[in-house]
Amino acid sequence: MARECNERCGWFKMPEIKFTKLFINGRFVDSISGKSFETRDPRSGEVIATVAEGDKEDVDLAVKAARKAFDHGKWPRISGFERGRIMSMFADLIEEHLEELAILESLDAGKLHHLCKILDIPGSSNSLRYFAGAADKIHGQTLKCSGEFHGYTLKEPIGVVGLIIPWNFPSIMFHSKVAPALAAGCTMIVKPAEQTPLTALYYAHLAKEAGIPDGVLNVVTGFGPTAGAAISSHMDVDAISFTGSTEVGRLIMAAAAQSNLKPVSLELGGKSPLIIFDDADVEKAIEIAKRAVFFNKGEVCVAGSRVFVQEGIYDEFVKKAAESLKNWVVGDPFDPHVNQGPQVDKKQFERVLQYIESGKRDGATLLTGGKACGEKGYYIEPTIFTDVKEDMLIAKDEIFGPVMSLMKFKTIEEAIEKANNTIYGLAAGIVTNDLNIANTVSRSIRAGMIWINCYAAFDRNCPYGGYKMSGFGKDLGLQALDKYLHEKTVIVPLQGSPW
Ligand code: NAD
Repeated sequence: MARECNERCGWFKMPEIKFTKLFINGRFVDSISGKSFETRDPRSGEVIATVAEGDKEDVDLAVKAARKAFDHGKWPRISGFERGRIMSMFADLIEEHLEELAILESLDAGKLHHLCKILDIPGSSNSLRYFAGAADKIHGQTLKCSGEFHGYTLKEPIGVVGLIIPWNFPSIMFHSKVAPALAAGCTMIVKPAEQTPLTALYYAHLAKEAGIPDGVLNVVTGFGPTAGAAISSHMDVDAISFTGSTEVGRLIMAAAAQSNLKPVSLELGGKSPLIIFDDADVEKAIEIAKRAVFFNKGEVCVAGSRVFVQEGIYDEFVKKAAESLKNWVVGDPFDPHVNQGPQVDKKQFERVLQYIESGKRDGATLLTGGKACGEKGYYIEPTIFTDVKEDMLIAKDEIFGPVMSLMKFKTIEEAIEKANNTIYGLAAGIVTNDLNIANTVSRSIRAGMIWINCYAAFDRNCPYGGYKMSGFGKDLGLQALDKYLHEKTVIVPLQGSPW
């Protein structure tokens, strides 16, 4: 099933991998230990590059550089307008290097190349442009005091921030954190996921070219329990913004509590419901469901992996969903005809297959897929299970792969109850033409993002973040700035006051 592609296909030209070292204080440097790790191509499992492995000592150096840049450097002190101007130049450079960045992103993460070109990389430069425009519009409030006082607040950058990100959208995650942090006037240490370090290092190079001063943006590649933990427990890091699993989110919060009580924001996992009502157009609902769970090979935190279909259209939905996947192409992400590339690495590949086996063992019925495909690499067939019960692992756990669990419901109340029956609360989708149902259900679901008659639609102006064990704090939207700002209150007596 899987198609293969190489440079001879003409779909891409292998770029030279130029940036593989840590980026600290404006320079690419080896790790102090001299250690490195391999990043692999999920199409084959072959090594793409060897990258410096940062550890606590390297994080210490990066934090020192970021601290100096914050306490004494110009970045927090120049006008917001000037910060925005430099950020716009950073965005220009990303667009100039779009082709190369899109190839690196596809190679490292197995993401569809044509989507990297129109979504991931432009989405990254556009995040920078959005927050560049906001950098000179960060204002406090004027407060009406009851006594003879004048009060106002100042919004100030929070300081040195640690930005720890996952591998499923390496560029988008990088910029959804870096852009508001830069706009706020913070300095930062970014730790990309060990599976996908390549574009982050390239962005570090472009940031320097754009004129972002040394020490403002540092990138420490390495592993979570070492480099990541060193950032979250560091006494001189003032805040953490983390995107990743709920399990690691808990560790980050504990590390923050046990060190300097730094504030944390957590964008975590999910097991989001998609609820399809009887009045929906079945073909359209199937397209929405496919996007909800198979987009980016299911490696999407908001994946609508629990699909609840009302009983009146359930049988038709099941039949047509299986038919519609016959034209679904799993294969090389550089092939423009492919719908789904490989899982990011061997570990995730095996994890997803184990969940598929658990679904079979627990008695769910396999409608489509259910196994790996291709001669090599980490490809998995798009898999749909029917007859799924709410207590099965495939209905409860975040699988982070192309696996849909289909379940039937009768009434709106039952749909709401089932949708909310999860520890997570990241997102939900509703497919109906009935406005009353759409409004009632969207208010009743405990999740941070609701899509009506669409799924996984994001806009940089729309804040995004979870409820329950999907975390707290917002990425995207102007609210994302709040994570990187302190609000200071100033009170001053008016003339004639007893003070
Ligand atoms: P992960 O939690 O294993 O890793 C995320 C990042 O944390 C990586 O950079 C990793 O090196 C680092 N890390 C790991 N252990 C650490 C530790 N002890 N201290 C500090 N940092 C540590 O997650 P993952 O496997 O990379 O990504 C998949 C998870 O991310 C899924 O659960 C998914 O739902 C979630 N995710 C959430 C969102 C969102 O916006 N809510 C977006 C994308 C992914």
